Amino acid sequence: MSLASGQSYLAIPGPSVIPEQVLQSMHRSSPNIYEGELVDLTRSLVPDLKAVARTDGHVAMYIGNGHAAWEAAVANVLAPGELVLVASTGRFAHGWGETAAGQGVAVELMEFGIKSPVDPQRIADRLRADSERKIKAIMVVHVDTSSSIRSEIAPIREVLDDLEHPALLMVDCIASLGCDPFEMDAWGADIMVAGCQKGLMVPAGMSFVYFNDRAAQVRSRMERVSWYWDWVKRTEPDYLFQYFGGTAPTHHLYGLRTALDMIHSEGIEATWARHAKLAEAVWTAVEHWSQKGPLTLNVADRAHRSHAVTALRIGQPYGVDLRRWCEQQAGLTLGIGLGMSEPEDPTGLGFFRFGHMGHVNAQMIMALLGTVEAGLAAIGAPYQAGGVSAAAQVIARA
Ligand SMILES: *Cc1c(COP(=O)(O)O)cnc(C)c1O
Repeated sequence: MSLASGQSYLAIPGPSVIPEQVLQSMHRSSPNIYEGELVDLTRSLVPDLKAVARTDGHVAMYIGNGHAAWEAAVANVLAPGELVLVASTGRFAHGWGETAAGQGVAVELMEFGIKSPVDPQRIADRLRADSERKIKAIMVVHVDTSSSIRSEIAPIREVLDDLEHPALLMVDCIASLGCDPFEMDAWGADIMVAGCQKGLMVPAGMSFVYFNDRAAQVRSRMERVSWYWDWVKRTEPDYLFQYFGGTAPTHHLYGLRTALDMIHSEGIEATWARHAKLAEAVWTAVEHWSQKGPLTLNVADRAHRSHAVTALRIGQPYGVDLRRWCEQQAGLTLGIGLGMSEPEDPTGLGFFRFGHMGHVNAQMIMALLGTVEAGLAAIGAPYQAGGVSAAAQVIARA
């Protein structure tokens, strides 16, 4: 017997749950892309995208996933042979670095491991040694989705300012935007990349590169920039075609309009607060379970955990067993571990992740936690029973 029939829940850290309203707004025949409603709708997205990122800067939209935004950001400000410092707290920093390397950029990787955030002091030491100012940019992932570590961005800006180092600060907010608080202007990010399928609750297929005037100046000094990735036309378009370097992603635009309306009607600060409280419920349950047995949260310090995603380790065979049980017996899909090889678990199969980004509320999180507690019992993993009750107290006090 399986208890999985019914509404399933994809609790992986992207793509996230898509709201019915978003899906319904996309369910229509193709609009005219040369004039009329879609042109106005597209223009209307720009200020609302900026509001979500708390910036008065610029935003270019691309048809493509987060990897496309990675490549676009690099293409606009880094020439082949130039040096970038990549601060890594997990798989996604490596990925962005690999993208830059593929574009001919020289990549220097600075590892912070998979359990702790970026340490601005180490960045300061490296920049101080860069007396010739060879480092043109620092790339950092705000929330690395593989480890669920959240790093502070403002202290890196402070380091750059203190040393009067001209490197651009480039931030990946693909997992965090719309979930964990992010203040592009106040924290001093020069460039930020985001996708539409996580906190922004739209099917995968659009991504965004935000940039400020400093980054725009660097762009204007580039000898050449790939025609397709160039952000200039996309942010100063004369007609709709130029926003997207070709045909607009018509249906995504309707979906994004609806998703941004939902975020703005809740209020971005309320959206952040909801994610914070739901994450606290998740942590409370897991901290309770892990008083006994092999289950642990990857990030020990609450202050360094993302509110959008939680990475956990339980070892083998429990990791695979738990995910399989939740999906096949209960209709709940958990995220796999991503690139989390450790000496005691070289395959990383003992890792798993909860996605709790975007369109999630208290009853969904309680269902997730209740299902996982049932799964722990079903697979015979040792754990301290009662995590769901502990989480319920967090929700009750909210
Ligand atoms: C999901 C994600 C990416 C990659 O996005 P894709 O849409 O899969 O290309 C990059 N960085 C972070 C932090 C992510 O969470």
